[in-house]
Amino acid sequence: MERIVLRPLAKVNLGLDVVGKREDGYHEVRMVMQTLNLHDHLVMEVLQEDVITMKTNLPYLPVNDNNLVVKAVKLMKEKYHITKGVRINLKKVIPVAGGMAGGSSNAAAALLGMNLLFELHLRTGDLMKLGEQLGADVPYCVLRGTVLAEGIGEKLTTLPPAPKCGVLVVKPSVSASTKKVYEAFDDQEEVKHPLIDELINAIEQGDLHEMCKYMGNNLEPVTMAKYPIIQTIIDKMEREGALRAMMSGSGPTVFGIFEDLEKAKGAGEQFAHMKGVGQVHVTSFYNVRGRGKNYGDFKTNRK
Ligand code: ATP
Repeated sequence: MERIVLRPLAKVNLGLDVVGKREDGYHEVRMVMQTLNLHDHLVMEVLQEDVITMKTNLPYLPVNDNNLVVKAVKLMKEKYHITKGVRINLKKVIPVAGGMAGGSSNAAAALLGMNLLFELHLRTGDLMKLGEQLGADVPYCVLRGTVLAEGIGEKLTTLPPAPKCGVLVVKPSVSASTKKVYEAFDDQEEVKHPLIDELINAIEQGDLHEMCKYMGNNLEPVTMAKYPIIQTIIDKMEREGALRAMMSGSGPTVFGIFEDLEKAKGAGEQFAHMKGVGQVHVTSFYNVRGRGKNYGDFKTNRK
């Protein structure tokens, strides 16, 4: 294969509980992760010459070794002694530095792309293991779907697919540094913990309303203290009919759960011209079908 088009998917956290801090400084978490049908476009092409070139639609994104796609390609080239080059073209749609694992998902897609372009025949588990070297969320972005992540985010347990619904994603025009959010989290005197087991139970029952009742993220008050617009967006989403609206990951992106896509679309229109809003997307939950066979619909076409 000479060229592949991939769809790196975004994620939200239906639940995020920072349960503590380990002696080595890493935070212990319990998170319910959910992949969305919101995706970037990543094209990878084999070059006969041993070079890596990269283009992207966002001028402020690095296109050198600091880009997670380049990092993933380099990792695979070194590990599997690949002497051909790769041309990368990335069109970003997923908000950058928004708490939606956009970079991690790009890295996961690049690992898969290399696997297919160079016919390495690696399995999902192998790609997840490689992903650990690129970032804490990368193994999850290889696995995808509704998943419980524990430990420092590396212990993954697949859950039944979360109930069908419409999802509205609104990204304020500010960005949050995950590192700074965790630092501010550590300075808090009191921490409220979301009920992750109840959330999982609601998902297992397939009960959308119960799921919404138990969704929670204890990083939300931390990022919100810095960016009050998060609360404004949440309140507006709930007024516009969201069963629940919440911040994803370390933020500042807010997502709302609606009964269906139409309702999410209707509410989305109310955010199109809101001051301080950078991006608005209407989407749905992605769940993996046929995992292990051909990576579901991670890739869109082959040439
Ligand atoms: P998480 O949810 O895992 O905390 P995030 O959504 O907050 O991630 P990302 O969009 O993944 O954040 O990216 C954070 C930083 O990583 C950016 O500021 C950017 O400079 C860098 N980066 C490197 N490669 C990429 C990439 N392919 N896409 C987006 N950002 C990238």
